[in-house]
Amino acid sequence: MAPALLAEITTSAQPPLLTREIFGNIPAWARLLFYAAAIVAIGLWTYGLYRRVRRWRRGRPAGRIRLNVVIRRLLRDVLLQNRFRGRPFAGTAHVLLFSGFMVLLLGTILVGVEHWLADLLGRAPNDPVFHKGVYFGIYELVTDTFGIAFIIGCGMFLLRRIRGQGSFDRSAGTTGIVTLLLVIGVTGYLVEGLRILLAATPLPGLSPIGFVCAKGFAAAGVESDSARTMHFTLWWLHAALALGFVAWMPYSRMMHALAGTVNLVLRDHPLGEMRPVSLEEVETTGLIGVATIEDFTRSQLVELDACVSCGRCQDTCPAFEAGKPLSPRNVVQDLLAAMNAPSRPSARLPGHVIADETLWSCTTCQACADICPLGISPMRMITDLRRNLIGEGALRGSPATALQKTDRAGNPWGMSGAERMAWAAGLDVPLARDHADFDVLYWVGCAAAYDRRVQRIARSVVQLLKAANVNFAVLGPEERCTGESARRMGDELLFQQLAEQNVSTLGQRGVRKIVAHCPHCVNSLRRDYPQMGGQYEVVHHSELLAELIAEDRLPKATSTTNGRVITFHDPCYLARANDITAAPREVLAAAVNGNGALPIVELPRNRRDTSCCGGGGGRMWFDDPPAQRVGQSRVQEIAASRATTLAVACPFCMIMLGDGLAARASNVEVKDIAEVLLESLNPPSGSGEP
Ligand code: SF4
Ligand code: SF4
Repeated sequence: MAPALLAEITTSAQPPLLTREIFGNIPAWARLLFYAAAIVAIGLWTYGLYRRVRRWRRGRPAGRIRLNVVIRRLLRDVLLQNRFRGRPFAGTAHVLLFSGFMVLLLGTILVGVEHWLADLLGRAPNDPVFHKGVYFGIYELVTDTFGIAFIIGCGMFLLRRIRGQGSFDRSAGTTGIVTLLLVIGVTGYLVEGLRILLAATPLPGLSPIGFVCAKGFAAAGVESDSARTMHFTLWWLHAALALGFVAWMPYSRMMHALAGTVNLVLRDHPLGEMRPVSLEEVETTGLIGVATIEDFTRSQLVELDACVSCGRCQDTCPAFEAGKPLSPRNVVQDLLAAMNAPSRPSARLPGHVIADETLWSCTTCQACADICPLGISPMRMITDLRRNLIGEGALRGSPATALQKTDRAGNPWGMSGAERMAWAAGLDVPLARDHADFDVLYWVGCAAAYDRRVQRIARSVVQLLKAANVNFAVLGPEERCTGESARRMGDELLFQQLAEQNVSTLGQRGVRKIVAHCPHCVNSLRRDYPQMGGQYEVVHHSELLAELIAEDRLPKATSTTNGRVITFHDPCYLARANDITAAPREVLAAAVNGNGALPIVELPRNRRDTSCCGGGGGRMWFDDPPAQRVGQSRVQEIAASRATTLAVACPFCMIMLGDGLAARASNVEVKDIAEVLLESLNPPSGSGEP
């Protein structure tokens, strides 16, 4: 009987119409039962989603996103799963599973629409409305192909859970969900194979996997009667599992698929940008930052639901790596638990749900936000909670002193504004107030003004600007701290006070273009200051120097130290927050190319995947002993490289990594890229140390 069935499949004359009967071998009572179960499942799904949306709506309204951004993110981040770049296995698994799931879902909806229309129009079972002909052929081929993609994707996920490294969630619940999806996919093919076997579907090769299954059943001697029973049983198993999955989805970890998609498309926090705070709002509510779940934005509450606890943020977090009490994954998961807690009103979060020490451990390096496949920013949650801690006066010790000094003197060193030009002794640096027609303002920053090591950077930059005949000026005593550290530590009021003063001064001096050697200043002037009314073209010194080199406005490199091997550390706020990785390397290459004698080696973690020096987010002002600072693994990496010179492009990196290397008695010298470039040129006049 079985060979006869198989022969019938492969050789019988094709019926005139290319189609198949929907609900073939399923009696009317079973169809009714299926529809009743489907209504219940969709009802449970809708109710579950409604509950989630109601929770999200407890938050503050989020910012608006432009339509073109939404479409771009939908294509790039959702359909192409672009956020898995650099992780081919995980990326492929997600693309296969996600695309397979979406195509199968769409296919099921189309079959449902066909069946409903055919019923409405009173069509016979083999006289479909649109599920026929060329459309049917394409439908069968596409759904069959994406079905196998779906199964392979599930298999890859399970394989990672069995063999994978890293901190991603291997809980039984998550593994159970992936196994359930795999079983749904496999039973779908078995049902299709039996359906082909029973109904002698025309051109069965259009469903290649289903056809292989049909041949398998035939080869195994499955008889017509038992094929009917098996088809009916497996069809119900497949339908029950699929409907059960739909009903369960909003109540399970699979909610991330929905919340993650919403978040990937609608998230409103570019890297490097902080949520603006209106002082009117603070005065009205008497609240600053986030104290309870309701104080987060709706978009942040969606983020909590989107988290799959994969642990990628934790694996990349430099504070976690250094043994600090901070895991960005745990922060998100603890906040998720707080959102789901039935008690009302919500518990206070900073200092209760999330410990103070956890919040102060963050360097705001943004590695967590950059690596999260669902576009979640644990860092933004941390800084929002910090704002509240600062409002409550909960910061003590050296970082609190740094904020007080900034408030009093306009810089965290607490030194007088009159000393802001001490670094420029003997260099004849023009002041903006005396030199109205400058083209570019050199933003010196507090570190270069007051820290003797960092002063070398500013001296090198001005000598290079002069060598290239750039018409520049500095604010000198009129410059105040940008407030970048204060803002990321949570002191929003201090930031706004400093930014207002600086925006006013920059306006008085007619500044349009700014160059700064500090990526924190660059990021703040680019991202924070527009929120305060300051709009400028802001470039990092690596960008300006690379431009001057490309335009041949600087002399060629002629000298270098014999035997020097150089490596470059990408600062988080340059490489990650502002995507600037080529310019500093171009500057170093120009320093090398004079005689080709200066080899450059890359550190294992480079460019956007760089590792934090430990100085951002106000951590510069915490008095950890060097061995306990965040960034020690980076110091180790540098010491273990064969480099004799570490080139940096950020004053914080110079100080933090310099201290770390000194504590290890390392011989590696630390220099800014401007210093390296200047040393390789014919030294311009006036290059003495202050
Ligand atoms: S926040 Fe993102 S990276 Fe971190 S555990 Fe959740 S999903 Fe994974
Ligand atoms: S911003 Fe950096 S230090 Fe802070 S939680 Fe994220 S990865 Fe960790």
